[in-house]
Amino acid sequence: MILDLAIVLASVAGMEGVAYLVHRHVMHGGLGWRLHRDHHEAHDHAFERNDLYAVVFTAIVIAVFVGGNWIWPLQPIAIGATLYGVLYFIVHDGLVHQRWPFRHVPRKGYLRRLYQAHLLHHATEGREGAVSYGFLYAPPVKELKRQLAAGRSPVQQGRDQSSSDRTAC
Ligand SMILES: [Zn+2]
Ligand SMILES: [Zn+2]
Repeated sequence: MILDLAIVLASVAGMEGVAYLVHRHVMHGGLGWRLHRDHHEAHDHAFERNDLYAVVFTAIVIAVFVGGNWIWPLQPIAIGATLYGVLYFIVHDGLVHQRWPFRHVPRKGYLRRLYQAHLLHHATEGREGAVSYGFLYAPPVKELKRQLAAGRSPVQQGRDQSSSDRTAC
């Protein structure tokens, strides 16, 4: 029982690593970007192609649950992955993207950091140069801003410079 609980908690933590890698290398990769792209573009549709990732991940977790009838410890792993999915939905789809009927902007603490970190993920155009691919763990916002500035191409930096020049005028 204790061991099962430890596996559930380890799976929640492990899923953050999996989500980071999938987001960075698959969703922002050449093929995966086709589905993730509309999540990075402004629109007024209720659903995005990007939601298909959630459908695929749910199908995988259901398969792992079913497999757990014969193989231990697939069931505690699937429970951990489900918990991660719920936390992911609350932080990413709810808190940051407000796909629920109320607005709550966290003002302090770790939730604030997660909120700002994901907004910084959306600060770049296109699939390259983005920062903060995780969802339930985020480095300090200062560090992300530094990475963002360091990753900008000279063209983008020039564009930023000229737009700030314009505002200065
Ligand atoms: Zn992304
Ligand atoms: Zn997002």
